Amino acid sequence: MSPQPEQATQAGALLVVNAGSSSLKFSIYRATADGDVALALRGQIEGLGSRPRFSAKNAGGETIAEEDWSVADTRVDGQVLDRLLGWVTGWLGDEPLLAVGHRVVHGGADFAAPVLIDAAVLRELEALTPLAPLHQPLNLAPVRAIAAAHPHVPQVACFDTAFHRGRPAIADRLALPQTIHDEGIRRYGFHGSSYAYIARALKDAAPAIADGRVVIAHLGNGASMCAIRGGKSVETSMGFTALDGLVMGTRCGALDPGVILHLIREHGMTAEAVENLLYHQAGLLGVSGISSDIRDLLDSDDDAARTAIDLFVYSIGRELGALCAALGGLDGLVFTAGIGENAVSIRERVCRDAAWLGIDLDDAANRKGGPCITTPESAVSAWVVPTNEEYMIALDTLRTISR
Ligand code: ADP
Repeated sequence: MSPQPEQATQAGALLVVNAGSSSLKFSIYRATADGDVALALRGQIEGLGSRPRFSAKNAGGETIAEEDWSVADTRVDGQVLDRLLGWVTGWLGDEPLLAVGHRVVHGGADFAAPVLIDAAVLRELEALTPLAPLHQPLNLAPVRAIAAAHPHVPQVACFDTAFHRGRPAIADRLALPQTIHDEGIRRYGFHGSSYAYIARALKDAAPAIADGRVVIAHLGNGASMCAIRGGKSVETSMGFTALDGLVMGTRCGALDPGVILHLIREHGMTAEAVENLLYHQAGLLGVSGISSDIRDLLDSDDDAARTAIDLFVYSIGRELGALCAALGGLDGLVFTAGIGENAVSIRERVCRDAAWLGIDLDDAANRKGGPCITTPESAVSAWVVPTNEEYMIALDTLRTISR
């Protein structure tokens, strides 16, 4: 990607941390002389809470470390993180660690950009926990652990929500009383680092549509779509939480809230049981009863697997229509993330269903994986652009500490 001329050119490394419930993914980037960042290695600790296993690969994809970490404390803010930092600083040797960039799910209504974390910011981010109780504490635990062990290393929070904060105010609003809105119950949108990366990547990958009206379909285990105009978010399919919008691997997507009331009243379900259903037992897994992985469903000739895929594709088409309305038209459609980048037949079905929008699929180009998967005559072009959230977090971290 083209570097930004105004950026500083400090030499050193940036650690990117993405902490989840059972695994912590990390990567190390190097700041390059032209203000860009380049991947040095990526790794993960799997089995948090049970048997942590550490592994790392260099930028070429070769495994450079694989270890069982039989530490007593398996929490993300305990010995595991101390050990990770020990490994990272050992690997870096004399190379300075310029900063740590964290993926933080929620920046609330106010954080519209990455932010340098100090004690006051950390308190503000902790106060947002009720908006994302499953993820915010996991994202913030490493911040505290690193601050304690390395108080002089700057830390930057990069939010899943920030990219959507400049949307028209109406897109944030739920049709609920003002007091509830003021309490923070509004539509935020997520997957922001992925959309920011794609918006930037389009300048090189698809300059003809980069400044136009584009819908990005981020189709992974978590899936959402975003309408951008001139590289900025206009609307997105996720709302107050990452449950809304598309059918996902195990999440339900858009759901009549009356269903939840019914489950509570008629099935006697608790909030925890409903939460477990909507986050972990729904979506492709719930409908198919087989798997949350689209590859398993594509390989299956079970009717329920077919229904799950049909529903997934249908939900994408429905969101696409809604996002085109928010944009007032469409110049390009972009597929990204695990399914968007790899599942040829899903892209084909989505594009065929969107023929009414002027999308004319080029079969051979789609099978090849793009980047452009429509014919030269197609009124609206479609593209495959691999996302890279870690790169975006590394670059945003470098820019934030260079300011
Ligand atoms: P997340 O980051 O949300 O966990 P990913 O972006 O890694 O998810 O996407 C995971 C999804 O991508 C899974 O449903 C998986 O089946 C799908 N996927 C990965 N590789 C392929 C492939 N080669 N063909 C089809 N689907 C794939």
